[in-house]
Amino acid sequence: MTPFDTFHSACPHDCPSTCALEVERISPTQIGRIHGAKANSYTAGVICAKVARYAERQHHPDRLRQPLRRVGDKGVGRAGFEPISWSAALDEIARQFERAEQRFGAEAVFPYYYAGTMGLVQRDGIWRLTHEKKYSRMKSTICVTLADAGWQAGVGVMRGVDTREMAESDLIVVWGGNPVATQVNVMTHIARARKARGAKLVVVDPYRTGTAEAADLHLMLRPGSDAALAVAVMHVLFKEGLADRAYLARHTDVPEELERHVAGRSPEWAEEITGIPAATIRDFARLYGATKKSFIRVGYGFSRTRNGAVSLHAVSCLPSVTGAWAERGGGAHYSNRTIYHLDNSLIQGLDLLDPSVRELDQSRLGAILTGDRRDLGDGPPVTAMLVQSTNPMNVCPNSALVKKGFERDDLFVAVHEQFMTETAAMADIVLPATTFLEHDDIYRASGHTHLQVTRRIVEPLGEARPNHFVVTELAKRLGCRHRGFSLSEWEIIDETLRISDHVDAQTMYDNRWQDCALDFETTHFLNGFGHADGRFRFKPDWRAIGPDVEGLPALPDYVALIDRPTAEYPLRLVTAPARQFLNSTFTMTPTSRQREARPTVLIHPTDAARLGVADGVEVEIGNRLGSIRVHARLFDGLLPGTVVIESLWGNADFPGGLGVNALVSDEPGKPDGGAVFHDTAVWLRPHAAGAAA
Ligand code: SF4
Repeated sequence: MTPFDTFHSACPHDCPSTCALEVERISPTQIGRIHGAKANSYTAGVICAKVARYAERQHHPDRLRQPLRRVGDKGVGRAGFEPISWSAALDEIARQFERAEQRFGAEAVFPYYYAGTMGLVQRDGIWRLTHEKKYSRMKSTICVTLADAGWQAGVGVMRGVDTREMAESDLIVVWGGNPVATQVNVMTHIARARKARGAKLVVVDPYRTGTAEAADLHLMLRPGSDAALAVAVMHVLFKEGLADRAYLARHTDVPEELERHVAGRSPEWAEEITGIPAATIRDFARLYGATKKSFIRVGYGFSRTRNGAVSLHAVSCLPSVTGAWAERGGGAHYSNRTIYHLDNSLIQGLDLLDPSVRELDQSRLGAILTGDRRDLGDGPPVTAMLVQSTNPMNVCPNSALVKKGFERDDLFVAVHEQFMTETAAMADIVLPATTFLEHDDIYRASGHTHLQVTRRIVEPLGEARPNHFVVTELAKRLGCRHRGFSLSEWEIIDETLRISDHVDAQTMYDNRWQDCALDFETTHFLNGFGHADGRFRFKPDWRAIGPDVEGLPALPDYVALIDRPTAEYPLRLVTAPARQFLNSTFTMTPTSRQREARPTVLIHPTDAARLGVADGVEVEIGNRLGSIRVHARLFDGLLPGTVVIESLWGNADFPGGLGVNALVSDEPGKPDGGAVFHDTAVWLRPHAAGAAA
């Protein structure tokens, strides 16, 4: 075996687990396997396979090594570029940003980023540049917006029960998530509960995922119908004496109103909407109501559906009806984002934030770049962009319109990336980016309670540089004066920790992590939920969360604010995450590609027979936005009327060169926006020229 040293780190990817890692370093430029840290009480020695084999990505021959300037057509890839020095590349970006500002004003420049890294310094430093220059601000909507709104509506604060308590539960409900594929550690804690206590696992998901396969009960429902299930469960809880009236009186806002409201929402009513038999809904409600130590792990599926905020709110009401919040191993968890009380002002330059500067919805990038006045308002067009840590050509809704936007001749684009992504291929300047193993950063987790500081483990590949370097060098050229631009990453991490009343960076690094878990009373909301009166809200103030409240219910309820199936578009498409990819990350690594095989639509045999689709043939799927081609797999683990394409393959991986996000609407969800990746009505038919495979 090759000798190696072991260094600790944290997973930077867009995943709630933010695993504590142990990295084999074979040399100053080469890593071996990556392992989960056994000593971390959440990671518990387990990480997903795609990160365990990160060496495939770290040492991939296609990693970008030097800055590039486009000399060929947009979209052709590496052949369309020639090398350029870092200083020439940065000078050109600064020149183009100044030019855009002179012609149209600062809002013509649009810095755009997302969660290719979740490290706070490398990911969020772009905000300092945005705020100081008064460039257009990015409204973050592509991931958590809809689910956040739903949790905020009832619970009122972005934290929940410690997820390690799942091991002390008697019933765990994984609702709207597939942790086997997307946050494997959840399964570790569930396995502990099953082994030690004989706990039951229930999964609520539109299709039979890996997690559903492992469950005692899979409630397979129609996409976007979750609220109907939750409301019918509440109906049974009240009707059969399973509601905890003492808890309701003490900790919730309008329990009597809720009881009257759900009296008209029986399991038979919900069967019509969800497709789950009424008897199964009743059985589940009785199991849930009879189990005080019941833990709901809320997944991010809610954040991909137009009515997701309403649905998540309805689900979060359940432990308030049974009083499960009050039990160790009971309650629910969605995200722990706020427990770290980190002061982000230095990282993001919040002292320079000007709320009057235009905000542009990141999920509507196609509309923005093609000049939609609903987005631009009376402000200037976007004529210059810096893109870091995201691949919008691939991951944005309405992706054909995004492509059209990037094709504009008058748009200057700089992309800072690790690979020649489809977005980088459209850029004028491409800058090589470091991986998390090549720079310092700090990570908080939404799925657990640990804060982690990491250091560079190997030398950057070629001329690759961190995000911090790029924003700092651009800031210098653009005359910015914020002191964050004069500090190193490490100095920013250290000062951020100190002003946030944590230990210093070196101490935290030496300790490997800091467990920021709050006490039982706080995490279980026994000393109050996040609203002024301390009560859980069955009756949310949607207006306080977002402006678009039309059609949102006063009390938890199903609302058909979805892309409803019609005779023309009879199937509902869900674009769930593939196990071997993470958004568009890992779509270049050979093992991930081999295991995912090819873009595939899962279709129920009944639908397939009706539509004349045989297993393995190429089909076309379309809606008002366009059509794509993909191979079909007959699968009875979903309801007739639902189809699933596990994602996110690149556009170029689909037979026609258009990926699944070409079908996804960019119309915002309610009440405060949000992308709706699982909310698409489509037609499907065999592709005339498609061959069976
Ligand atoms: S489970 Fe999530 S956090 Fe853990 S290694 Fe995999 S991608 Fe990273």
